[in-house]
Amino acid sequence: MIRLFDTTLRDGEQTPGVSLSPDEKLEIASALSDIGIDVIEAGSVIASPGERTAVRMIADAGLRAECCSYVRALPVDIDYAIECGVDSVHLVVPVSDLHIEKKMQKTREEVFSMAMDAVMYAKDHGLTVELSGEDASRADLQFLKTMYTEGVDYGADRLCFCDTVGLMTPERVGKEIPPLCIAPLSIHCHNDLGFALANTIAALHAGASCAHVCVNGLGERAGNTPLEEVVMALQVLYNEKTNIKTEHIYHLSTLVSRHTGIARATNKAIVGEMAFTHESGIHAHGLLRDTRTYEPISPDMVGRSRRIVLGKHSGKASVETALADLEYHPNERQLQAIVERVKELGDQGKRITDVELMTIADSVMMLECSPIITLRQFTIVSGSNALPTASVTLLVNGEEITSAAVGAGPVDAAIIALQRSVSATGDIMLEEYHVDAIHGGTNAMVDVMVRLRKDDQVLTSRGARTDIVEASVEAVIAGMNRLLRGKYDERSTDTS
Ligand code: MN
Repeated sequence: MIRLFDTTLRDGEQTPGVSLSPDEKLEIASALSDIGIDVIEAGSVIASPGERTAVRMIADAGLRAECCSYVRALPVDIDYAIECGVDSVHLVVPVSDLHIEKKMQKTREEVFSMAMDAVMYAKDHGLTVELSGEDASRADLQFLKTMYTEGVDYGADRLCFCDTVGLMTPERVGKEIPPLCIAPLSIHCHNDLGFALANTIAALHAGASCAHVCVNGLGERAGNTPLEEVVMALQVLYNEKTNIKTEHIYHLSTLVSRHTGIARATNKAIVGEMAFTHESGIHAHGLLRDTRTYEPISPDMVGRSRRIVLGKHSGKASVETALADLEYHPNERQLQAIVERVKELGDQGKRITDVELMTIADSVMMLECSPIITLRQFTIVSGSNALPTASVTLLVNGEEITSAAVGAGPVDAAIIALQRSVSATGDIMLEEYHVDAIHGGTNAMVDVMVRLRKDDQVLTSRGARTDIVEASVEAVIAGMNRLLRGKYDERSTDTS
């Protein structure tokens, strides 16, 4: 069983521009504990009073996972950790001459004795100690080994090798890690050259028993080893177990992305938008016959679902499947006509949303579709002295409904007001919101794409306007109209 030490709330929070409130940290820590993380590095207690509040809240939350704080080899740091009630400390000591001389302006001997004093002090106060060599990949290996050996003699429970600036290679890891496994050893890798996952896996095979990870690969600069990649690589490629409940990975990833404000790269392994999305007609065809043809792992293993996106490469089989998902069952001739229209749109470089596909199908199959909702007006108030407020008037099934809402911003306020207006007709959730500016100045078109959910029905929809609020409102209303129309039982499958 490989252990996982998650540092999303410490190294991950050191991602430039990221700052989490104590409540957000607690919510993420609970999710980390629930998913099966063994140790949560909740923060660095020396950082700020707010950070200590967060660490204390996490330590007091009664989570299953061990609660840890980052500390330097200084009594003041350890005192704060004790005060916050953590189970353990990640005691980080610079070990390369570069860090010792330039950053610390000390000698090896001075740093060594500070480290031993700190280990003893923390152990005297009942803390579990993970003694960590910072910049270990550029340290003198003999010095590092002595530090680890004596550290364990002074009571350190575990050790950690930090590739602080991501300079290791799997080959070096294979040679250098085995002699350092004097006690349970963690590996802490950074992704500066894209080697974090490879080095982490190599270290686990060389005798390390625990991987330091961050959700979505957050962390300083290019980030740390991504939690989701290590867990799935171990399980799928090496048949190694962790305590992680993989089916909750996507939910955790989304929570972290939302709270940190750091979007996942669309092609990010496991959690990126495109990781389980297929377009090519040929591939989708094979996929529909047997998903193993183009899916190395099944999306439900990580709590996701497969998406077939339509575009110019789309073949008949994938268009037919997408239509069937939306409860459209065209005959052969109608299907051919729909495929042609989809390819025309795809040739314009567009990804076709569900609502666009439904509009095409309606017109080809000559189906009547009068909107349930029409927009009468919307008004937005925002500015430096006003809470963003929206009022929206809709005609819903012929009845005029006006709702107002306050939001985090003008778009948020408008969407909340829309949701209120239709809430009597059906609960519609906004699952995803995506904006592309079509290049130009501040008068450029913005293309808003939304994903909406009503019960188990999910739809994508688009709005394109120069006004971002108007584009958002248009996309949401178009999607709502389709969702509220509900199932399509009465629809004829052949109108020819
Ligand atoms: Mn780090």
